[in-house]
Amino acid sequence: MSENSIVADGKIIAIHFSLTLDSGETVDSSAGRDPLLYLHGNGNIVGGLEAGLAGLAVGAKTKVKVTAKEGYGPHQEEGVQEVPREAFPDDVELEPGMQFQTQDEAGNVAAAWVKEVSDTQVTVDFNHPLAGQNLNFEVEIVEVRDATAEETEHGHPHGVGGHEH
Ligand code: ZN
Repeated sequence: MSENSIVADGKIIAIHFSLTLDSGETVDSSAGRDPLLYLHGNGNIVGGLEAGLAGLAVGAKTKVKVTAKEGYGPHQEEGVQEVPREAFPDDVELEPGMQFQTQDEAGNVAAAWVKEVSDTQVTVDFNHPLAGQNLNFEVEIVEVRDATAEETEHGHPHGVGGHEH
């Protein structure tokens, strides 16, 4: 096996994957789609998964369990907040599960998700929807290739399954 087909830092990796929670619910999968591309060693995918794939060869199939702590972190109750409905623009249709960006006075941008909506209040959650969940990945390494100079510079893969720009 040539070392060119081994998952290592700086390589572009194509994977087929499924992500299942401990409950058995599959929350994401590349089945029926193009494989997912990522630049290994660059934080493009969840850290615990990236570590679990290092050193594997093309064609390898593996299961990687990423604990909540290594994944999206514990679910923190203080991350759940009630916000008056008026804080959102009138023309925005608010639905549970919707993601939006918030900005504090210092200009820090954070992602948040709508949990519940009433006429007057919106419950928002700054925890990632998968916070507090163990992540059970099943992965097949489909392709390993060298990154182009441009991909290395951008820090992500280009082309089908990667960034199209
Ligand atoms: Zn790019």
